[in-house]
Amino acid sequence: MSSDKKTVHYNTAKFNKSAAKLHQCPADIGAEVAFAGRSNAGKSSAINTLTNNNKLARTSKTPGRTQLINFFDLNIEGVRIVDLPGYGYAKVPVAMKQHWQQHLEEYLQKRQCLQGVVLVMDIRHPMKEFDQMMVDWCLSTEMPLHVLLTKSDKLKKGPAQSTMLKIRKELTAVLGDLVTVQTFSALKKQNVDQLRQRLDLWLLPEDDFEEEFEGE
Ligand code: GDP
Repeated sequence: MSSDKKTVHYNTAKFNKSAAKLHQCPADIGAEVAFAGRSNAGKSSAINTLTNNNKLARTSKTPGRTQLINFFDLNIEGVRIVDLPGYGYAKVPVAMKQHWQQHLEEYLQKRQCLQGVVLVMDIRHPMKEFDQMMVDWCLSTEMPLHVLLTKSDKLKKGPAQSTMLKIRKELTAVLGDLVTVQTFSALKKQNVDQLRQRLDLWLLPEDDFEEEFEGE
């Protein structure tokens, strides 16, 4: 464990385990943030950019792992990022989709240490059905949500900004202070610090949970 307990170093992310069901997840203590998104939205690229590790999210894409919840440990004990299964693989049968949606829902609703969800959307195709479902889940569980409008390099600055403002306005009307929205580009490494700052707020709450572990 790092001696620097107060700073999350995202480049220390290390694969911990994959889980198909809630009971297979690491112990429900500490703090974690989960990344969700439709397949091809740019979730793996965002995680790789955040962690400065181009191989990291490939772990979640290896055969057999794409439908699992993948956990990555960071330098602080009990602090993790979680790669949720990408949604919407065309070739997956409906029954299997429903099965895995159920596990996803169970994770989102029951996981105590989950501090927030990063919902990754392609800025050119925001707020599709899956995204709306995630927004509804966040609303019903009062889960903080950070929307990452990625591939913003695909749009000119003006349209990218106006899309971001429009989505922010729409979602704030529903979720209020629970939601934040930003543009992002993995390709150009834009606004990575903005993402890190949001995650820091979730993963390093003011009252130090390590004291809870130690029982004062
Ligand atoms: P995932 O299925 O959500 O994990 O998506 P990936 O991260 O694998 O990205 C899907 C495709 O979008 C790949 O071809 C990436 O190279 C591309 N992509 C991801 N992020 C960006 C970005 O910020 N800018 C551009 N131009 N392409 C991106």
